[in-house]
Amino acid sequence: MSTESTLTTQEVVDITRTTNYGTWRFQKGWNPMHIVDAKDCTITDAAGKTYLDFSSQLMCMNLGHKNEAVIASIAKQAQDLAYAMPGYATTARAELSKLLLEVLPKGLNKFFFTTSGTDANEAAFKIARMYTGKTKIIARYRSYHGSTSGSIAATGDPRRWAMEPRGKQQGVIFAPEVNCFRCPIKHTYPQCGIACADYLEHMIRNESDVAAVLVEPIVGTNGVLVPPDEYMPKLRKICDEYGVLLIADEVMTGWGRTGKWFAMEHWGVTPDILTTAKGITSAYVPLGLCATSEKIGDFFQDHYFAHGHTYEAHPMTLAPGTATINEMKRLNLVERAADFAPYVQERLEAIKAKHPSVGDVRGKGLFWAVDLVKNRTTREPFNTYADKVSGKPLLVDQIAGKCLAEGVIIQAWVSHFVIAPPLIVTKEELDHGLDMLDKHLAIADALVE
Ligand code: PLP
Repeated sequence: MSTESTLTTQEVVDITRTTNYGTWRFQKGWNPMHIVDAKDCTITDAAGKTYLDFSSQLMCMNLGHKNEAVIASIAKQAQDLAYAMPGYATTARAELSKLLLEVLPKGLNKFFFTTSGTDANEAAFKIARMYTGKTKIIARYRSYHGSTSGSIAATGDPRRWAMEPRGKQQGVIFAPEVNCFRCPIKHTYPQCGIACADYLEHMIRNESDVAAVLVEPIVGTNGVLVPPDEYMPKLRKICDEYGVLLIADEVMTGWGRTGKWFAMEHWGVTPDILTTAKGITSAYVPLGLCATSEKIGDFFQDHYFAHGHTYEAHPMTLAPGTATINEMKRLNLVERAADFAPYVQERLEAIKAKHPSVGDVRGKGLFWAVDLVKNRTTREPFNTYADKVSGKPLLVDQIAGKCLAEGVIIQAWVSHFVIAPPLIVTKEELDHGLDMLDKHLAIADALVE
């Protein structure tokens, strides 16, 4: 057991499910696994069974479990200074800020530290609105940006619905997502000339009061949607032309996941505001970041910055951030993710060739989607978001359940899988996880029309 406790596993599970909310799921039937230990890419349950984690626990744990340097940084910070109000300077804050100047896209040099991706986005919206004096945020339909009022209102996927119509008051409007596999405006790349970006420009021209455009550079949960190379540079140009800020939500795509420190680097585009969380500490402690350009930061030299949290720039979250970045550099994890990409792609293309139920595989670095289709010609998925929201059993969950029973944790979402192991994953582990998915995709093949 990783903690001193007299509770039995049955008590742990029963107390958890009867007293806690099981996030984004029906309470009924929630039967959580009791995890007691973990090391590198492996998780152990109370029965002593081990699992290969092919999801990095919500795409967070890039360093894997039990990284000694990160653990030591937490212990040391707890002894040195557990907490200080946000208005103070602390060594932990200065050390991390110094490193961020090194690894973030150049020009992003003013930082606001939060405790999650959700509140990093809330900070971004507020900063964008205060700076521009405008209100509207253009987000895109297939997107996720967080769970509090502003960030859920900016979330394009149906997780937003539970907040409507109140969420509508947040001033968010939606553009079509970039999704070349299932284009929402029925175009085909490259003949389309990136019409989805043109449509976004059309929106800016026809709306008043637009403060910012918000994008996940590679859409995460909603299917690892990689935009064509022309999209981000085009969007940057449009934003500059109309004086609209570009916010990149790199909560999932940051920290080496896509083979660059930050995904926007794939296209040489620097956003005005970048938000991130998850991999910033490899999830050892809860830390989020809203980084802005110097120009935006300068605005607040003589404008009141009406934003903050008690736990903002909490020293216990910042010291492990520094240790995480140092470990990523020591282990060359960004390069490692980039180097693995051609191999993962080759294996996934082979899986697609073998399984009629696989419609598309796409991704970068160690961040890939395997997208299932009922019919390769129509590209119709096996399940939709409506199925998920209504609690209908999903085919991807059935397949992920088979993989889990054989010791591999794979993230399934509506009608695709996300392949995102810790960046320390070995080739043998990669093969094991992909072999497991390969084996159980036969369940979907049998249902292809
Ligand atoms: N933005 C993106 C792209 C995310 O993937 C997530 C979470 O998965 C969030 C924001 C919200 O971050 P958090 O769950 O840390 O609040």
